[in-house]
Amino acid sequence: MPDEWFADQYDVVIIGAGSSGSVIAARASEQPNHSVLLLEAGPDYPLIGETPFDLVNSYRNSTADHDWGHAYQPTAEGRPTAFPRGRVTGGSSAVNTTIALRGVPEDYDHWAELGNEQWSWERVLPLFNRLERDLDFGHEPYHGDAGPITIRRYPHEELSETHQAFLEAARGLGYPDCADQNDPQGWGSGPQPMNKLQRLRVSTAVGYLAPARIRPNLKIVGDTHCRRFISDDRGRVTHVEVERNGEVRRIASKLFVLSAGAIQTPPILWRSGLGPQRALEDLGIEVVADVEGVGANLCDHPALSVIATLKDPSLASSELPLIQTILRYTAPGSEHRNDLQIELITWTQRADSPGAFSIAAVLEQSHGRGTVRIDSADPHAQPRIEQHFCEDDRDAVRMLAGFKDALAFVETEPLASLIDELRFPDPSRGADDESLLNLIRRLSGSGYHPCGTARMGPAEDAGAVVDQFGRVHALSGLVVADASIMPEVPRANTNLTSIMIGEQIGEWIRTRPGDYGL
Ligand SMILES: Cc1cc2nc3c(=O)[nH]c(=O)nc-3n(C[C@H](O)[C@H](O)[C@H](O)COP(=O)(O)OP(=O)(O)OC[C@H]3O[C@@H](n4cnc5c(N)ncnc54)[C@H](O)[C@@H]3O)c2cc1C
Repeated sequence: MPDEWFADQYDVVIIGAGSSGSVIAARASEQPNHSVLLLEAGPDYPLIGETPFDLVNSYRNSTADHDWGHAYQPTAEGRPTAFPRGRVTGGSSAVNTTIALRGVPEDYDHWAELGNEQWSWERVLPLFNRLERDLDFGHEPYHGDAGPITIRRYPHEELSETHQAFLEAARGLGYPDCADQNDPQGWGSGPQPMNKLQRLRVSTAVGYLAPARIRPNLKIVGDTHCRRFISDDRGRVTHVEVERNGEVRRIASKLFVLSAGAIQTPPILWRSGLGPQRALEDLGIEVVADVEGVGANLCDHPALSVIATLKDPSLASSELPLIQTILRYTAPGSEHRNDLQIELITWTQRADSPGAFSIAAVLEQSHGRGTVRIDSADPHAQPRIEQHFCEDDRDAVRMLAGFKDALAFVETEPLASLIDELRFPDPSRGADDESLLNLIRRLSGSGYHPCGTARMGPAEDAGAVVDQFGRVHALSGLVVADASIMPEVPRANTNLTSIMIGEQIGEWIRTRPGDYGL
C-alpha cells in the first residue's frame, strides 16, 4: 500500500476493524459519495484463501498469533489472567468461538428504558435479522435468511460423543429441548447457533469486508495503531494520530468512528483527553473533557468450570469443535429470565488436565462492575483491567446455583459413564455451599464478553459517554460504536450484539449523514 493515503481527507475514518467496525465500514461505504477509511492495528488478510489457519479454524480460539496480550484481575484474590482480544481485521470475531446468540428481548428493552429508545427489542430485531443468514430457521419472522453472517446448528449426527451425552443428560435432569436458542422465548438445552461453515469461522472480515473490498470509496489499512484523536478549541475532533511502520502521522476526516472494542476504546479516549479529570492530570494528559464514564461500568459474564477427566482421552481432542451445545435457563427465584448458561467445553486448556473436558457455569446477568484504566500515557502501554466478579452477593448466589447445576451433569448418565475422575472442584475439599461460594468468589473468570466501558445514555446521565446514536456527548465529530457503548451486558455472548450495533450505526451514518456532520 503506497503511503499517499496518509495525506487524504476522508468523510469517515473508522478505528478498529472488529465485530462492529468492519460492519460500519461496509454499511457506510454503501453510499458511494462517502470516502471511508478503515484502520486496524493488526494485520489485514484480503484473501480468505491466504488467511492464516488460526483465524479460519473455528474449532478453537486463536489466543496467541493475533492477540493483544492483555491480562486482567478477575477477583480480589484471583490471579492476573490472560484476557484474549483479536488483533486483526475481523477483530475478536476473527478469533472467537463462533457462538451466535442474541440477548433476550428484555435486555434491549432495558437499554431503551435507560433512555436509549432506539435500541428497544422491537427496533433491534430487524437488525439481528438483517445481519444473519440462518440456515435452519431463516423462514421464521424473527430470523433472517439473506445476511452476511451465515449461522447454523450442528445436527445430532455431527455432535461429538460428549456433546450428545450432554444433551441426553440435560433431558435426564429435566430441562426441555430447545432447537433454536435464538427464538426470543427459547430456553432449555440444544445445539448452539454458530457462525461457521464446517471449520470456517465466518468473521466480520469474511462476511462483511470481503464483499465490500471492491468498492473504490473504501480503503482498508492494517498494521496501523491509533494513538489518539486531536480536537480543536471548539470541541471538534479534526484528526486521528496513528502510527504505521514506526512513523506517526495525522489523518483528517469529517467524522471519526472509534470501534476499538471495550478494552481498547477507553485508553484511546483517555489519551485524547476524554476521561476522569484527576486521572488524566495524574498521567500528564491535557484534559479536553472531564468524563467519568470512560473506562467505568465494565460488564462481563463471570464463569467457573467443573473439570473432569475422560476415560477415553481422545474424546477431549482439540481436533473436535470446542463447543457445540448449550443450556440456557433461569436461576431459582431470579427475576432475570435466562440469566444462566451451562456449556460443555470439549477440552480444557489447563496444562495440568490433559484428556479432560469442562462444564462451565456462566452468569449472564451480573450486577458486578469493573474498570479499564491506563497507568501511562504511552500509546502502547497495556491497560489495567479489574473485574470484581461475584463480589456482589446477588451474583454469587446465582453462580452458586449454576455451578451446582453444572456439577449435577457429571453425575448424570450418559455423561457420568464417560468420566474417569472429577478434577475440579476437588471432591476431598467438600462441596457444601460455603466451600463452593469461596471458590466462586476467588476463582470466577471472564466469559470474554467485556462491554459497557463507554456506555450510551442521555446527556443528563453522568455516567454516559455517548448518546444513543453513538455520538460522544463532550465532543463533535466523534462516534463510539462497539461493545463499549452497551449500557449493560446482554444475556448472551456478545458478538452478534456487537455486529448489530455496527449494523445500526452504519445504517444511520449512511442514511442520516446530517446527524453525523456529513
Ligand atoms: C477468545 C474469544 C472468544 C469469544 N467467543 C465468542 C463467541 O463464541 N460468541 C460471541 O458472541 N462472542 C464471543 N467473544 C466476544 C466477541 O467476539 C466480542 O464481544 C466482539 O467481537 C466485540 O466486538 P467489538 O467490535 O467491540 O471489538 P473487537 O471485535 O475486539 O474489535 C476491536 C478492533 O479494534 C482494533 N483496535 C484496538 N485498538 C486499536 C488501536 N489502538 N488502533 C487500531 N486498531 C485498534 C482491534 O485490533 C480489533 O480488531 C469472544 C471473544 C474472544 C476474545
